[in-house]
Order: sequence, then C-alpha cells, then structure tokens
Amino acid sequence: MSKFLVRNCDLGNLDDLSVKRVDILIENSRFAKIAERIDAREAYGATVIDAHGMLALPGFTDTHTHMYQTFIKGPLDDIPITDWLIKLFRIEDIMDEEDYYYATLLASLSSLRFGTTTVNEMGSFEYLDPIIQAFEDAGIRVTYGTSTTDVAENPETPIMSIDEALRRSEILYSKVHGRNNGLMKASVAPAGLPAVSREMAQALKKFANAKGIVYHTHLGEGKMETQNVADKYGLNGECEALYEFGILDKNTLLAHSIWLSDHEIDLIAQSGANPVHCPNTNMKISDGIPKIAQMLQKGINVAMGCDGEASSSTRDMVREGRAGSYLQKAITLDPTVMDAGTTFKMMTVNGARALGYDDLGVIREGNQADMILVNMEDDLAVVDNDHRIGNLLYAGDGHNIDTVFVRGELKVRNKKIQCFDEQQIIDICQRRIHNLNERIRKM
Ligand SMILES: [Zn+2]
Repeated sequence: MSKFLVRNCDLGNLDDLSVKRVDILIENSRFAKIAERIDAREAYGATVIDAHGMLALPGFTDTHTHMYQTFIKGPLDDIPITDWLIKLFRIEDIMDEEDYYYATLLASLSSLRFGTTTVNEMGSFEYLDPIIQAFEDAGIRVTYGTSTTDVAENPETPIMSIDEALRRSEILYSKVHGRNNGLMKASVAPAGLPAVSREMAQALKKFANAKGIVYHTHLGEGKMETQNVADKYGLNGECEALYEFGILDKNTLLAHSIWLSDHEIDLIAQSGANPVHCPNTNMKISDGIPKIAQMLQKGINVAMGCDGEASSSTRDMVREGRAGSYLQKAITLDPTVMDAGTTFKMMTVNGARALGYDDLGVIREGNQADMILVNMEDDLAVVDNDHRIGNLLYAGDGHNIDTVFVRGELKVRNKKIQCFDEQQIIDICQRRIHNLNERIRKM
C-alpha cells in the first residue's frame, strides 16, 4: 500500500469557500494526518507530492452513470427521446465484448482524469465480466447494478422474469461485491417503473435489503412516461407509486426525479431517499428541469451524476455541477440557490452518503483517501487565487484537475493518467468507435 505526503496544499472548506494551507499524510488508504506542518520523520518512507498552490477537494462522486455509452456520444445527438431509446438499445446489441471493455475503460479513465473517484453504474449483465474488468483495471471506485426491465416500454425493451432478475442479481453480487479490495460494491438497478412491474420492483428491493445494498433506479425522467405510470396505478405520480410499493428509503437512489409533485418531494424528504441530479442529460434530451432548489430546502440529500454519454456527452462533473447550478438559479430567479459550496457537496459527500459510505467524500483524518488537487495556475480562464472554489465551478472544468487519489493510490498526476498510456487508449478507442459507427450506419 502506498504512502504519500502531500505538502502545502490549500484545503478547501465547502461551508465558507475558504482555504487553509496544510500538509496531508496518506497512509493505509486513509487520511492519516492533516496539519499545518507534518515532520518528515512522521512521513518516513512516503512519496512527497509538492502541491504548492493547489486546491485540495474530495474526489467527485458521479452518482448516476452508464459508462459503456462513452462509445456512442455522436450517433444519438439531437433526436427525439422515443427514437433515442430505441436506437440506444439497438446499438447496445451490436457492441461486442471488447467494445464494452474499452468503452468502460475509456469512461473510467476520463472520469478519473476529471477528478471523479466514485461512480454509481447502471450497466449490462450480458457483458458483466469485461465491464468489471475495465473498472478494476482503471482502479476507480464503483457501485454496479445491472439494468433490469420486465415491462415492454418499446419494441426493443429487454424483458425478463423476476426469477431471472433475482438469479442475475445473485451472480452479480457474488462477482462484484467487495471486489478489488472493496473498491467495488453491488447494487440492484431496475431501470424505472415505466419498464418495471410492481412485483419486480418489490422483489429487487427485498433482495437489496437482504444483502444491505442500494436500490438504484430512474424516476420521473420523461413527462409522458411518468404520467403513464401514474395512470396505470391510479396514483398522482411515479414517485407515489414507489412510495406505495415500499421502495423509498435512505438506501434508494432516484436518478433525475424531474416530474414530481410537491407532495412527492415531501415523500422523498420523509423517506430519506436520494435524488440524483443529471442536468446535462435533462437539457440535451429535453427531459425537463427538476425542482432541486426545493428539494435542498427540505433537507433532501441530492447527489449529482453525468449519466451516460449517449445523453449528456460528458464525464466532467465540474461541467455537470455548473449546468445544475445555473439551471436552478434561472428557474427560481434566485442566484443564492445551488451556491458553489452546496454544489460541490452534492458532487462529493452527498453522493458518497447516498451510496452508503460514512467515511468518504470529506477530507478528514480517518476517512478514505479519495482526493483531488486542482492546479489553476496554468490556465488563462481561471486566474484568481482568492476565489478558487467558485472559479473552478463557474469558470473552470475537469481539465483543471492535476492530481487524483483513489483510496490512497495515485491515479492522475500532472494532469496525466498514471496506470495507462493515454495515447494508446485513445488510438484503440478511435479505431473501435469508427468501426462501431460503420456498423450503426448499416443498422
Ligand atoms: Zn440513466
């Protein structure tokens, strides 16, 4: 296990946006000591990182992802949502095992490059082995669930029985949970009630409760689909249905959460469930705008996610946070909502908490050492050392992140991925994406 002494970094305070110059000792994958000065003898054997002038923040938690979609950013641009979903399913079917491996690897490496240390993936079961191998090779922290459906929302929706879903959940749990020295966790991931029956939702929730894992689903993303669910069950909304089915609690993650009544927001607040805001997707595929400011005001633990790149086109959590903050300011006519500190907490500790961690997402002695160092001294766009936290969010982007630690291991240094040759991965992925695009054209 590695040992690092990070010298002279400026530790960001997300409550008041101040910074404090400190040394940080990382040992046994945790923050062992944080102090104004750590004596070299205390850090004997540590690799010293000179972080002078760099802002230290917790690593980002990308709390809703479909990483394999990194290969299909282009083919799904600018088309209506129903066609988008059908085309997405068809493309997934013509991707092969190596496409899934490299797409997941590319997404994991670009996430790390942009400061994301944890992802919450809703992915494939058919290609589980190459996908989890890619996550393991990249060394990113991941919670993994397999997208599950049993209601034909469109002609391409994959249908399976509840028994089959439980069989897959059991296999996934045994292969994934605790893998890579505990960096991987399993989840259940029913896609969402437009494509999931009440019985399937309840069976998977029961499985999740028995295993102590999270229930990760989409909620209230499409306006029409949300109304269809409400009509089907004679209720006022999709969230009410989840509540009635006994799904809502603090171990439930609700990606999007757009089409909710005020009453449903109260149900989420009472239950402790965790909405995940994915604003770039919500804008690009015209889903709508969730009432995030209202949720925050009610004390709801809202996290953030980049979703899949077929809908968001990005793995950059800074761009995601900025988009979310601007949208809420614009629709509420209130510039104080989703302020920089709140937005960075949504991008870090709120996601970690939603995924069941109580020792992640905050740089504190004893916590797991997932941390980023931000270098804003080589970028014309972000010159102003007195407002670095706000400037990173509003003027910067993921390219400003210089150094990334995942559980005390160095993943990015000097803005370069450490465990792979970046150019080699880019070349391989360019070839594979071009080849896939040729197959898509013939579809
Ligand atoms: Zn999604």
